[in-house]
Amino acid sequence: MDKRRGDKRLGNRQLGQSFWPDLGNLLSAVKRAMWITLLNLFRKPVTVHYPTVKRVYPDRFRGVLALTYDKETAEENCIGCRLCEFICPPQVIKVEMLKAEKRNFAKTFTLELYACEFCELCVQVCPTDAIIMMKSFDLATGDRRELLLDKDRLHTIGLQFEPSWATGTSLRGMQTPPKAPAAEAPADAKAEVKAE
Ligand code: SF4
Ligand code: SF4
Repeated sequence: MDKRRGDKRLGNRQLGQSFWPDLGNLLSAVKRAMWITLLNLFRKPVTVHYPTVKRVYPDRFRGVLALTYDKETAEENCIGCRLCEFICPPQVIKVEMLKAEKRNFAKTFTLELYACEFCELCVQVCPTDAIIMMKSFDLATGDRRELLLDKDRLHTIGLQFEPSWATGTSLRGMQTPPKAPAAEAPADAKAEVKAE
């Protein structure tokens, strides 16, 4: 009983002793925070009033995915080969091929953008540059259903935003190792050719 009373008195005394230093620390922290707030009042803001004001995206920015049309024939570029579907790590692409006489098409094409990892593998494997990334991320929404993109929506996005520089052809071109220079013929062989 005595021990418990003693501990309680000790606790009260420690509480009382640390009150003023704690109050001092608190006031000093508030002062520092208010000073930083005051400084920031006069700083140029780093944020913009999106979506009224839009930032200029960097040249290499790659955002939402879209499907493209052929600029000359105005036909859909997608041939429904399903390579993008097979390569996609989270399996968010589903394609149905429509076989036709001259070429094939995508009968249906869906992309669950809400689960996309933006890894760009689908773009890299596309043989016809039909799926590309755009220089935009402006599909922000509170409703996930709006990010389940069908073929028409993907084509609309392709017309709505500026395409990024990266297409399957350009990306594959970057990854192809440079050709080794042709091997020099041995000096003896050159001399023989000259003598002939
Ligand atoms: S960017 Fe990657 S995760 Fe997104 S659809 Fe293409 S392959 Fe799939
Ligand atoms: S987007 Fe490209 S890779 Fe995907 S099905 Fe169409 S043609 Fe094939």
